[in-house]
Amino acid sequence: MPDELLERLRRFHDQTFPGIQDQFQDLVEQGQHPHILFIGCSDSRLVPYLLTGTGPGDLFIVRNVAAFVPPHDGMLAVRSEQPAPDGSYLGEARRWTGYHGTAAAIEFAVLNLQVSHIVVCGHSHCGGIRALYEGVPKDAINLAAWLDLGREAVLPVQVSPEALRRTEQRAVILQLERLMGYPMVRARVEAGQLALHGWHYVLEEGEVHVFDVKSGQFVPASAATHSGTGPYAEPDADTMASPLFNEIDASYAAPRVKPGS
Ligand SMILES: [Zn+2]
Repeated sequence: MPDELLERLRRFHDQTFPGIQDQFQDLVEQGQHPHILFIGCSDSRLVPYLLTGTGPGDLFIVRNVAAFVPPHDGMLAVRSEQPAPDGSYLGEARRWTGYHGTAAAIEFAVLNLQVSHIVVCGHSHCGGIRALYEGVPKDAINLAAWLDLGREAVLPVQVSPEALRRTEQRAVILQLERLMGYPMVRARVEAGQLALHGWHYVLEEGEVHVFDVKSGQFVPASAATHSGTGPYAEPDADTMASPLFNEIDASYAAPRVKPGS
């Protein structure tokens, strides 16, 4: 049986690499200095370099199922499915969510690489988001626990293409909020040294919809005036109100525990 992967490796070395060898020589000698941390879903149809027109050395990438961000302290509030008669959730508990390569990558990108942008990129037809509604195989205990990081974005409705689309977008905002729970992220965002970007990539349209914190909406890049904002924006000149996500009366808003509280 032909080993197709081996063939591909040889082709890369023999045919592709000679054309980009100088570039890699520079990247090795001078080290990597990417300005962007890209947190994206692992989906094979999401290709960060293609999407952003970037190449080697440009993006520090961490990908996982559904582009989720674990809490900085590793503790996640998980509550029971059903509220008690008085509306409270009796089963609420904070649990340790385990070791996280994604959390480590965020710390490394911010503290060591000092990136100036963090992109959280979800996408249409995301299997991870769909699994929030449809469940996962019984043996997938890690996947089931991981999906808790998007649980707050779930809508109390029947699953439909529209509900999935909205949940995908709500999940992006939820992760941006959780990013603000990283002290090194929050400090740099508030100092204007780091920008957060919430993206929802529509596979079939080839278009990223970027989150605009002021309108509380995702706007197609073709109609947007910026490449997306996080849950934090400069205070409005008139009202001096900083439109934090918690204050947005948007349909995207999900009930949540405020970071740090
Ligand atoms: Zn996905």
